[in-house]
Amino acid sequence: MIRYTGSCHCGAVKFTFSAPEIEQAMRCDCSICARKGISMSMTAIAPENIEISAKGDALSTYQFGSMTARHHFCSQCGIQTFVETRLNPGHYRINLGCVDGINALRLPEIIYDGQSLD
Ligand SMILES: [Zn+2]
Repeated sequence: MIRYTGSCHCGAVKFTFSAPEIEQAMRCDCSICARKGISMSMTAIAPENIEISAKGDALSTYQFGSMTARHHFCSQCGIQTFVETRLNPGHYRINLGCVDGINALRLPEIIYDGQSLD
């Protein structure tokens, strides 16, 4: 397991998490991910393996549809830092673009069939 750090763009939301080495990314074609276009971690991080710190009420949450997934974003800069997934409630997929030392757009990626969950 490797310890990673990350943040939103303005720095109001910071986080650290432990995960196997990140060598691949996942994109999802569901209605919200298609609009965001972010590369996410293949691993859904268990809550005991992530620490989140946010200034004041910077961390906001958007939900829709089944209201299971929790799409967290910074209310100051608008960047979605991580999502509590619908398939693993309480587990976090990380926006790899927010992770220090990772060039998310240059990782090999798979496209997840999220459309069939919409
Ligand atoms: Zn921010």
